[in-house]
Amino acid sequence: MSAGTGQAGGTPAEGRPALPLLPLADLPPEARGAALLRAYGAREPGIFPDTLTVLITNRCPLRCRGCSTHEWARVNRHGELPADRWMELISQARRLGADKLMVSGGEPLLRAEDTLKVLAHGRRLGMRTALMTSGRGLDRSLLAELYRDGLCELSTSLDGPTARVHDAWRGAAGSFDEAIGALESARSLAGTPRPVRDDPFGGTFTTHVMTVIAGHGAGLLVPTFQRARQAGADLVSFQCLSPDERFETLKVPEADLPALEAQVDRLIALLRRGEPISNSEGFLRRVIPYFAGRMGVPDDRCLAGYAHLILAPDGSASSCREYLSRQARAVDDDGEPSLLALWTGEAMGRARAAMEGCERRCLLRCWVDD
Ligand code: SF4
Ligand code: SF4
Repeated sequence: MSAGTGQAGGTPAEGRPALPLLPLADLPPEARGAALLRAYGAREPGIFPDTLTVLITNRCPLRCRGCSTHEWARVNRHGELPADRWMELISQARRLGADKLMVSGGEPLLRAEDTLKVLAHGRRLGMRTALMTSGRGLDRSLLAELYRDGLCELSTSLDGPTARVHDAWRGAAGSFDEAIGALESARSLAGTPRPVRDDPFGGTFTTHVMTVIAGHGAGLLVPTFQRARQAGADLVSFQCLSPDERFETLKVPEADLPALEAQVDRLIALLRRGEPISNSEGFLRRVIPYFAGRMGVPDDRCLAGYAHLILAPDGSASSCREYLSRQARAVDDDGEPSLLALWTGEAMGRARAAMEGCERRCLLRCWVDD
C-alpha cells in the first residue's frame, strides 16, 4: 500500500494544504463509522485516526490481574524511545490531522519528566491531551504542573468501590487511595485559572475513570461508579476483561451473571437519566452475552486497524492492545520517525489482515456500530 492511494475524498480543512489521507478528526462523529467501513472495504488505510496513543513505557509498579503489559515488556525489543523522538512522531500525527494525544503505559509517570514534555508538546500543537495513570507517582505538585501545561484529561482506573476490592485486583496495596487522591486533587484544581493560550477546547479539564468488568466485582459496578463520582470523576467508562484465554479464571462465573445483569440494568437506567457513563446502551447490553460466551460478532469484522494507532515504547505500532505488532515500527532502523510510512506500509497492512482474522469475541470492535 502506498501513501498516495488512500485518499478518501475528503476536502481539506480551511487554510490547510491537502493531506495524503483523510483525517478522521475532520469528520462529524456520525460520519466516521461509514468512512471506516469504506476504508475496511477497500483494504486501504485512506483515513488517519483522530487519536495517537503513546505507551511511553511498559514498566509498571502495579500488577493488575488481567493486564498484559508485563508480557509486552518482555518482547519490547528496542527499548524506550526518548522524548524527542516522541515529540517528532506527535508533530507528524498532528500534521496528518490527529487532534488527540493520549499518553499511557505501563505507568507513564515512571517517566514523569518525559511524559510532561510530550504532553506539553501535544498541547502546543493544539491537540487535546489525556494522561492515563494509576495515580502512583502523581503528587499534587506534579498534577499542578500538568494542569498548568494545559492537560485536558486525567484518566485513572477504579476497579472496585473499596480499597479491599480495588487493591486486590491491582495487586498493590495503597493503589485505591492513590487513585482517589488523584481524582480529589484534580477536582480541587479544575476551574482554577491556567495560562493556556489559543485553547481550542476552552480550557476544559476533565477527569475520567475506567472500570474493568470482571469476576471480582460483578455485583459492584454501580457502587464503583458512585465512588468515582464522589471523588470527582466527570465521566466513567466500563470495559470488559480482555478476551484472552490466559484470563479465563478472572471472568465472571456463570453463577454471578444474574448479579452482573442487575448491575448492568442499573447502569442503563443511570445512563438514561443522563448520568456520565461513556458506554452506549448497546455496549452495556452486550456485557452479559459477552461473559456468557454467546456474543455474536457483526459480520466478523474488526475495524480497529483503520481507526486506532497505538505506539508501544519502542515505536512498534498496532491498533489494538491485544494485537501489538512487533513488525510495524514508527521509526526506521536508524531511529528516524515516519508515521505516514508506518500507517500506509506493508507491515501495518499485515497487522490489519491479522486483526481481521481475530477470533476473539471482544467488545472493542463494537464501538463503531453504536
Ligand atoms: S496500572 Fe495499568 S499497566 Fe500497570 S499493571 Fe495495572 S493495568 Fe497494567
Ligand atoms: S477483534 Fe479487533 S479489537 Fe478485538 S481483540 Fe481482536 S484485533 Fe483487537
